[in-house]
Amino acid sequence: MVKKTKEAKKKTQALKKGQTKKTVPLKKTAQIKKKAPVKKKGQQKEKGQVKFIGQATKIRQTEPATVIEWPRSITHVHTYGMLSPFFKGLREGRLMATRCPNQKCVEKRLWIPPRAHCPDCHTEMAWEALPNPVVGKIYTFTEVVYAGTGIELSTPYWQIDVEIPGLATIPKSYLLYGKPTIGMKVKAEFRTKNPTNTVLDYYWVPYEG
Ligand SMILES: [Zn+2]
Repeated sequence: MVKKTKEAKKKTQALKKGQTKKTVPLKKTAQIKKKAPVKKKGQQKEKGQVKFIGQATKIRQTEPATVIEWPRSITHVHTYGMLSPFFKGLREGRLMATRCPNQKCVEKRLWIPPRAHCPDCHTEMAWEALPNPVVGKIYTFTEVVYAGTGIELSTPYWQIDVEIPGLATIPKSYLLYGKPTIGMKVKAEFRTKNPTNTVLDYYWVPYEG
């Protein structure tokens, strides 16, 4: 049997006598002053006390050993170095290519993606802007349905290789809309508004003409 406290006994006796419990009016409740909590000695903040400023980790499991989740994020600082003019060009709505300035070089054509140095004679490359509109032909294409980690385009999308007149290369990019066919004419466009500052800032659209 549970022992009744003195207080509980009094309450029971009062109820038996027909007395109801007195309720405190709301107004009065509001007027009750809260007492400041008494701080224990150990809880008192000391000036200059070392604080934990990190985020508490989450426990994933405790058996057979404690495993915590410790999220990490990094900022990779990357330089475009000597290829910077290509990305500056994209921001300005121009496709920049490199050409070997060495008169004796076997390769006279332009390169996109650009090269800092000529792959044939190792001379430092010179920059040229392709005149707008840049029109090319689809050399080949593939549909990307399951993109790898790090791909920042929504799937599915068409990855296309475009033949551009005057180029030594057939650069890879993507078709913004429409369905590709081999030999189809496409025009380069640029993400000058809210650029990503990556190679994704140029893409192709179907071209009639
Ligand atoms: Zn060269």
